[in-house]
Amino acid sequence: MTDKQNAKHKAAMKKQKSNVDARIEQADLEKGVAVLLTGNGKGKSSSAFGMVMRALGYKQKVGVIQFIKGKQLSGEEIYLRDKCAEVDFYQMGTGFTWNTQDREADIQAATQTWERAEKLLRDDSIDLVVLDELTYMISYTYLNEENIIQAIADRPYEQSVIVTGRGGGSKLRDVMDTVSEVKDIKHAFKAGIKARRGVDY
Ligand code: ATP
Ligand code: MG
Repeated sequence: MTDKQNAKHKAAMKKQKSNVDARIEQADLEKGVAVLLTGNGKGKSSSAFGMVMRALGYKQKVGVIQFIKGKQLSGEEIYLRDKCAEVDFYQMGTGFTWNTQDREADIQAATQTWERAEKLLRDDSIDLVVLDELTYMISYTYLNEENIIQAIADRPYEQSVIVTGRGGGSKLRDVMDTVSEVKDIKHAFKAGIKARRGVDY
């Protein structure tokens, strides 16, 4: 790099830093964050579990509720159950809806699981609540969307909550502070690569 290029880069970085610093100064609310991770691409649940790891790094209290996927064991389930007793972990455990093929039983399981979630959302000792695959409970109308939105809105002020799953209607989006949509560009499965331990489950 020439001296002129160096000087230009330095000036640009200085400007960027002052912009970033100004924005950091403006964001001064100490408040829990509601995060929705949605979209058709891979990376929603794994992102949520990344935040679980972050929270645990600070010795925060974490609760995880998984709303579907009873049949297939996942690495995160094994780890949290066997190695991570400090995380309050609960899984609905009935499998996908096309496995059970029993709407009434699904609704009953979803309702029981939601009661566990509500308890976490009322507990101000819990720093982070993960509601993995919750959006399907709303789209299948297994659970009442208004109740879910209310419970998220009424949770303790400093508690963060992460909801994952495809869909997630506009009403749910309204109550969330951060909404990210993971876009499907390509997925290995479509090229015939089998779902892989440690990557896919
Ligand atoms: P992950 O748990 O890997 O972060 P996810 O939570 O974003 O994935 P889900 O819809 O919950 O996605 O599906 C979980 C499983 O389905 C994973 O094995 C993932 O690799 C796979 N999967 C996710 N998106 C796609 C896709 N677009 N095509 C095929 N398989 C997918
Ligand atoms: Mg998922």
